[in-house]
Amino acid sequence: MSDEATKVGVIGLGAMGAPMARNLARAGLLAAVWNRTASKSDELVAELGVVRAHDPADLARRCDLILTCVSADGDLLAVIDALLPGLSAGKIIVDTSTVQPVTAIEIAQRLEKTGCAFLDAPVSGGVEGARQGSLAIMVGGSTATLERARPVLNAIGNRIAHMGPVGNGQATKAVNQIMCAGINHAVTEALAFAEDQGLPLDKVIEVVSGGAAGNWFLEKRGPTMVRCTFAPGFKVALHYKDLAICKAIAEQRGVMLPVVELTLTQYRRLLDAGYGDEDISALYREKRKLFDKECESEAQ
Ligand code: NAP
Repeated sequence: MSDEATKVGVIGLGAMGAPMARNLARAGLLAAVWNRTASKSDELVAELGVVRAHDPADLARRCDLILTCVSADGDLLAVIDALLPGLSAGKIIVDTSTVQPVTAIEIAQRLEKTGCAFLDAPVSGGVEGARQGSLAIMVGGSTATLERARPVLNAIGNRIAHMGPVGNGQATKAVNQIMCAGINHAVTEALAFAEDQGLPLDKVIEVVSGGAAGNWFLEKRGPTMVRCTFAPGFKVALHYKDLAICKAIAEQRGVMLPVVELTLTQYRRLLDAGYGDEDISALYREKRKLFDKECESEAQ
């Protein structure tokens, strides 16, 4: 697939998919978009001057490479099935959603008869990374397919790692999600503690960010969480879904992962309280409760 011949279509224009589509348009690669909720694709079509496909199969017919970014396993499988009537040999499907490794393998099998190639290519870097085109991309699939897709991946990310066969991209993303859970606990708990100590929180974030405990989440989400502002970002419901994947993988090995279990329990409380669409930094709500403080009033 030569660079100039590549026509890319994006399916799923949510918090991650829309900025990825914008970067593909900037690189001159975006030909068409499709989103289940049509109003989102209308906005992007007006902004970027690309085609709004009638349905996934229509998008597949118009494009050489189809990039998907939808919520969960069942959603992705439904989109793949809807693509099938429009697929023909030689096209590439690149999925950037976070799903189970076995789902990625199942998709590769479903696509086999079409002669299309598949890469599982989950991403990390948040909405900021998606906007800046600086995502880390963890790729599973053949080397040949990755090389054909690389010019497209270069438009959305700046760290592309080939992790092995289909499924290994998602297995790597599961690693990433366990680390994100641990970091979320560390940052939200420490900042709730800092607040209880009566420390100036913005200064705490600034100075700690420059030392050994500095990290992406503290820098990007610290200043908003201490104001009880939890606009996504990365939704609690989506990270819960990812950690359920990690739990299932670990259980197959007969292992219980403490960070995963604790995070699932605390996210469950947030979901039950109606905070599933907030950013994962909403875990700060739970940590503040340890100090008898609530975020409700500030959050509204
Ligand atoms: P989001 O803002 O909630 O967007 C989800 C997208 O998926 C929307 O376009 C939605 O369409 C579409 N969708 C959901 N179910 C569908 C279905 N059954 N059929 C067709 N389309 C469907 O989520 P997001 O934050 O962009 O996340 C998307 C994926 O990227 C998830 O797998 C997530 O785990 C992963 N991810 C997210 C982040 C992050 O920081 N946000 C970072 C890395 C990876 P509608 O508009 O119609 O609802």
